[in-house]
Amino acid sequence: MEIRQMLIKTILNNCQKFKSFVYQNIVWEAAGSDGPTIKVRIVPRKNAHAVCSRCLEPAPGYDQLGDREFEFVPLWGYRFFFIYRVRRVQCEQCGVVVEYMPWADGKHEQTKTYMQYLARWARKLSWQEVAVTFKTSWQKVYHAVCYVVAWGLEHRELSNVNAIGVDEIAWKKGHKYLTLVYQIDAHCTRLLWIGKDRSVKTMLRFFRWFGKGRSRKLSHICSDMWKPYLKVIRKKASQAIHILDRFHIVAKVNKAIDEVRASEYRKMQREGYEPVLKKSRWALLKRKENLTERQEAKLADLLKYNLQSVRAYLLKEDFQGFWEYVSPHWAGQFLDRWCTRVMRSKIEPMKKVAKTIRRHRPLILNWFVAKKAFSSGVVEGLSNKVKVTTRKSYGFRTYGCIEVALYHVLGGLPEPPMTHRF
Ligand SMILES: [Zn+2]
Repeated sequence: MEIRQMLIKTILNNCQKFKSFVYQNIVWEAAGSDGPTIKVRIVPRKNAHAVCSRCLEPAPGYDQLGDREFEFVPLWGYRFFFIYRVRRVQCEQCGVVVEYMPWADGKHEQTKTYMQYLARWARKLSWQEVAVTFKTSWQKVYHAVCYVVAWGLEHRELSNVNAIGVDEIAWKKGHKYLTLVYQIDAHCTRLLWIGKDRSVKTMLRFFRWFGKGRSRKLSHICSDMWKPYLKVIRKKASQAIHILDRFHIVAKVNKAIDEVRASEYRKMQREGYEPVLKKSRWALLKRKENLTERQEAKLADLLKYNLQSVRAYLLKEDFQGFWEYVSPHWAGQFLDRWCTRVMRSKIEPMKKVAKTIRRHRPLILNWFVAKKAFSSGVVEGLSNKVKVTTRKSYGFRTYGCIEVALYHVLGGLPEPPMTHRF
């Protein structure tokens, strides 16, 4: 028995040593209420002073509370706990307070190391899967992620943000929106901020949090055409080149085509025509090079008909040429010609897009002004990752959960330092 105890203690001291505390005896509880567990008692090192948990200064002892258990990283599939009799100290500054325990964080029942361990897995698996894998609860995984995210947000570096991208996502079945602000510099892309809704107030909250000094240093801002965003950005960071993102413009055109196709399909069905538009959605929406063989055949077939959907599709195809320009001037000429053609096409949803494009002409052309400053696919890439995260995590019913999960996966947050990687 003694030898085995020594071995586990040696390993523990190797991976997780505390300056003022020592590991004492180890107990194997074969019939605990949560199955077999391993428990290690921790005691203060002789002559080591207790430390106040508020100001982190040494302080004389006041009294002892009962034993508390702190869950540590499981060993060979068994749950593992530290047991410690917590002391209170009489701090000159803070009064009677619980002592500082280097393995614990406030009221959590889990050790910091274990929380970090769970949180790391929670980046790869859904929270539910992590809970099942490590025999813990969804709630505890959530707390672990909260701890790591809070630490990361407090310790992250925010100087050096030159370019940001603003995007929105729908959640709760599309009834609510979140505003996401990314850093999109070449040297660093990450999620910077999340806010509820997509209103003027939301955007103002971002700038208030980000601070005047940093906002004035922004050189580029990428966003979609959402009015509240445009308005606030113009006011709070007027020095930045404001770009309407390519991906958002393409999305608008695609949405119009989808509308045209859907209404034409219904109309043809009503009037008893051959169902040529059946299963044509992706053939019309996807880029040519991404079509499957069947979709390609469908497209070739469709192109034989003089349909509104087909004409809208051809207009979209022409619009691709816009992105090939280098000079904002010539790109502008192209844009004007394209919009004129669309306005003559008599296809209402497309005309709406053309009007929107005309209205935002300068900001769209800024794409060419800023082309070399950063890669334009960044916002799209990040926004796809956001969608994957929110979809994967089916436990996220509240805003708090989504917020924490997104920061965790996309925030590029620093982690508390560890001497050993578990
Ligand atoms: Zn104190």
